[in-house]
Amino acid sequence: MSSVLKTENLSFAYERINVLENISFDVQAGDYVGIIGPNGGGKTTLLKVILGLEKGKGSIRWFGTPSAQFKDWWKIGYLAQKSPVSQSRFPISAEEVVLMGLAERCGSGVSVGELKSIYEAMQQTNTRQYVGKLFHDLSIGQQQRVLLARALVSRPQVLILDEPSTALDASSREMFFNLLGELNQKHGVTILLITHDTGEVGKHISKFMYIDKRLVFFGTKEEFCHSPEVAKQLGAFAQHTIDHLHNRHGHCPLGDSCVECHHD
Ligand code: ADP
Repeated sequence: MSSVLKTENLSFAYERINVLENISFDVQAGDYVGIIGPNGGGKTTLLKVILGLEKGKGSIRWFGTPSAQFKDWWKIGYLAQKSPVSQSRFPISAEEVVLMGLAERCGSGVSVGELKSIYEAMQQTNTRQYVGKLFHDLSIGQQQRVLLARALVSRPQVLILDEPSTALDASSREMFFNLLGELNQKHGVTILLITHDTGEVGKHISKFMYIDKRLVFFGTKEEFCHSPEVAKQLGAFAQHTIDHLHNRHGHCPLGDSCVECHHD
């Protein structure tokens, strides 16, 4: 395993109000990390700081390189919580939105190589059928998949998503999570995903990160399941519901009161 993103003592304040304090973690290639925590706990800010959109204190290394010297930003795809594209009414086609993900383009035309990348990303996200359609005429779920294609078009090794499923209905959400699972499992993409969807996310991810100003927890689902820190924050019931481990393992720490086990 190799380190994709390592932070040491990362801190950040908005106008002297501390939002992140001494956050240290090491995300390895192939990890699928679900980032959870209370509203206002600093999750979005953490993503902004690691992406260099906000300047924090402490150390951030991408693929072993200090972030100030890191140049290969194409290796990282980002799907923000509120995309400016979704909010503006600018008449732009689905494939033009995807093209926007090719950051280091030169010239105004689209090269054959770029077209190939666009179609591949649209294929991967099941959005090829929206070529030629206006982005704003698509449903929220379809738009979200097009935005995912935009994040994937540079063929990133890491995908960072900030609450991508909030506006989706149940079936679009399932499709979206399945797609992320496939990218992680089949294509080896490392994923960091902020989500409030604690009911679903535990099925898909390999590690949890719990942020509440400080790093309350970072580790595997199994470690999450047994963490006293997590139990203290969430209560044992939520802890064992979120991790989704109790259908697969015989032993359940909640015994007969575990709804997960006793749904089998
Ligand atoms: P989360 O993603 O966990 O909900 P955020 O990172 O969005 O948390 O916010 C963490 C804290 O920082 C909150 O108290 C929020 O009000 C504050 N905050 C977020 N953005 C700004 C900003 N641009 N200016 C000042 N305070 C902010």
